[in-house]
Amino acid sequence: MNVVKASAPVAVIGAGTMGIGIAQVAASAGHPVKLYDIALPAAARALEQLRQRLRERVDAGKADATSTETLLGNIKLASSLSDLSDSVLVIEAVAEKLEIKQSLFRDLETLCSPDTLFASNTSSLSITAIASALQHPQRMAGLHFFNPAPLMKLVEIVSGLETSPLTLDTLQALAQHWGKHSVICRSTPGFIVNRVARPFYAETLRALEERIAEPATLDAVLRDAGGFAMGPLQLTDLIGQDINYSVTESVYHAFFQDDRFIPSLIQQELVSAGHLGRKRGRGFYRYDNKQAIPQAALAKAESGPLPQAVTLYGDWSAMAEFARLLAGSGAAFKNHGHTSIYATLDEVTIMLTNGKTASQVAEETGAPVVLFDLSANYQHAPVIAISSAEQNTAAQTAKVIGLLQSFGKQVIHLPDYPGLLVMRTVAMLSNAALDVVNQGVANADDTDTAMRFGVNYPQGPIAWGKKLGWQHILTTLENLQGYYAETRYRPTPLLRRYAANYSGAKC
Ligand code: NAD
Repeated sequence: MNVVKASAPVAVIGAGTMGIGIAQVAASAGHPVKLYDIALPAAARALEQLRQRLRERVDAGKADATSTETLLGNIKLASSLSDLSDSVLVIEAVAEKLEIKQSLFRDLETLCSPDTLFASNTSSLSITAIASALQHPQRMAGLHFFNPAPLMKLVEIVSGLETSPLTLDTLQALAQHWGKHSVICRSTPGFIVNRVARPFYAETLRALEERIAEPATLDAVLRDAGGFAMGPLQLTDLIGQDINYSVTESVYHAFFQDDRFIPSLIQQELVSAGHLGRKRGRGFYRYDNKQAIPQAALAKAESGPLPQAVTLYGDWSAMAEFARLLAGSGAAFKNHGHTSIYATLDEVTIMLTNGKTASQVAEETGAPVVLFDLSANYQHAPVIAISSAEQNTAAQTAKVIGLLQSFGKQVIHLPDYPGLLVMRTVAMLSNAALDVVNQGVANADDTDTAMRFGVNYPQGPIAWGKKLGWQHILTTLENLQGYYAETRYRPTPLLRRYAANYSGAKC
């Protein structure tokens, strides 16, 4: 029977966080769903809780009564594996243990038809390894949902070494029928999302370790300037420090202790202390007395006379919104053929960070320097982060802060940290995403789709890097690599190729 047909029977094994959500997704697309868990009473409880949750939505006028009852009527509990024998698709979401998953599929292969497709929701195990337990591993793939499965739009369809194209095509059609964005990737550690997202957490954790600012200020830069829905520390509190830490650790070890994925000692300490985030009332922030996340540390208001002499050099097309803000202040544009882009305010140079410190740039140019951080949208972001050279006088830096405040921005003046926060994070995300493409794990479109819908990034990291210019991403990483003398910031070969072939806004 065609799996994509709404009447096709689907089985879900494991009625925990993910299994019950996946059962809801399949049932809401019209499939008769059998839900099996080794702990039958736990499965019955999970189904009862789902009933209550969905009926509360009906009572609150947020869902339709008839379709809710149809959905709930589609899910039946199974009391043994053999009850699942007529399924055309079996999705397992049981404990994350290779032997358990292998043994399940080995048993299922003896019970189900040779045409039944098998899918695993594993986050970290190799699909190839799970499928190796099967006589016919071609029929098995990863179907990686994100939590909560009914709400999150992404499904990663993961191909093991033996997975057949027909299995992938069928699962892709099915995901579409279920209203999900699906992406195809090869079975490698972290698949797409859990691999590419590592630097989002790691760069802010590093800044915290280097005591650049308090958590609330670091989060505000990524959230209110970078355009991410939440700051990384806030988000790890929501996910759970233990879960986030163990994903990082598993990806790090799976890549043979590659520096790019090195876990954070500060996060390990939180886990050791039991400060696991919201679920324990305390993580990077405290939630015990409903206290909101503290205010970020903002630069004090500068109220000097508005500057007269902003001049823009170079091609600002990749940061057109910032150029518009500056032009609104009466800036003059000069020298559009200039190879690097910067502005001057009287004697002070204002530049997008490129992985050097402001003091390094001041030393090289002989001018006072203020660097600004990357923003998802300079015009609309409420915050802009900057750093200033040690050589600047306080008045020179204050002048730039006053200019940015005159645009209605809150200014976060960070210590002189190379690559600031959004720029180094986005450079690392773009690099990680290109590495996925370089190694044939997924194509560029799927990689960006995965990051936009799996973790709700404001832009796909490849589209973002392209917009900014591959050369700027490469320069930023090379400067960071030089600064730290670590392989963590090494550029992927594809980034070097892109930077050599294209420049700036042209690509
Ligand atoms: P969970 O602990 O909430 O639920 C697991 C369920 O599997 C339990 O109800 C348990 O009784 C049942 N189970 C264990 N062994 C079984 C067996 N042999 N046969 C039948 N049932 C068995 O776990 P979860 O968070 O739902 O995760 C399940 C899977 O989904 C894991 O592979 C995990 O890596 C993956 N995943 C989890 C998340 C997440 O955010 N929780 C996200 C994506 C993927």
